[in-house]
Amino acid sequence: MKVTADLDLCQGHQMCTGEAPDVFGYDGEADRVVVLQEHPDESQRAQVAAAVQYCPAMALAVEEDR
Ligand code: SF4
Repeated sequence: MKVTADLDLCQGHQMCTGEAPDVFGYDGEADRVVVLQEHPDESQRAQVAAAVQYCPAMALAVEEDR
């Protein structure tokens, strides 16, 4: 899978860093999410899906690698 974050939508709520801390970080200066792993391991899928679901700004998306 490939994780993308739309930094124009992100409002720095940091819900995603709580759901999937290995995949999403936070840039305090920019007040925006940082994608730490663009291609997380399958074992992270549930956490990543939760982060995508709970992001209040709907800034996160998961695409499937082919
Ligand atoms: S949960 Fe959404 S709005 Fe909040 S930091 Fe993560 S991507 Fe940005």
